[in-house]
Amino acid sequence: MLEGLAHLLFPEVCVVCRKPLESGERQLCPACLVRFAPFPDSLAGGQAVIRSVNSHFGLGAVPSAAWSLYPYRSEGPLHDALHALKYGGLFPLGRLFGRRLGELVLASGGAGSVEAIVPVPLHPLKRIERTYNQSGAIAGGMAEVLGLPVAEGAIERRVHTGSQTGLSLVERRRNMEGAFRPTSRASRRVSGRVLLVDDVLTTGATLVAAASALKEAGAEQVAFAVVAVTEKE
Ligand SMILES: [Zn+2]
Repeated sequence: MLEGLAHLLFPEVCVVCRKPLESGERQLCPACLVRFAPFPDSLAGGQAVIRSVNSHFGLGAVPSAAWSLYPYRSEGPLHDALHALKYGGLFPLGRLFGRRLGELVLASGGAGSVEAIVPVPLHPLKRIERTYNQSGAIAGGMAEVLGLPVAEGAIERRVHTGSQTGLSLVERRRNMEGAFRPTSRASRRVSGRVLLVDDVLTTGATLVAAASALKEAGAEQVAFAVVAVTEKE
């Protein structure tokens, strides 16, 4: 009820088109969601992730399974929404994307053997600067839908890498080598199949490096789930 009252007093606007939202809508209006142009079916996004990782890092780095909602574009409504999620403090938008990603995993029947969801961690300094981890927000939304625990803190980021944007593949790879490590606390260990979550996959350098740390932390298999993936031309 309080939420309804707050909505009446302070109507929220869509983060992309700035139009006032109807009661019950969160962060995005239905018109913008349609304009995000998702992959045509529940498998196409995962296939794009696997193609990208394979082409940059070889078959050995390919995850046990993969899911993605959207092909990434460097401009347009999806780009604006992802930018707002990462830099605009829009934590709840991450949960919304996470819930949709969770539904995609459920629809493909792939969640059965997953034991935990792990968001790609930020370096502690960046986490303070940004106040939240956008991947953690996405993982939280997925956990709601899938009924799985979020194992935040299974791995940690040891290097404060700057933005990867604009770097070549070789530079990205060098930047990310050894960027993650398992947390020293034994209680944070993971096992079985783990679902690693991030906002955007560009070359896969971040996810491949984080997956290798997760295996050191006890995971037998690592699957990837990302909101959007850059497709190779
Ligand atoms: Zn809108």
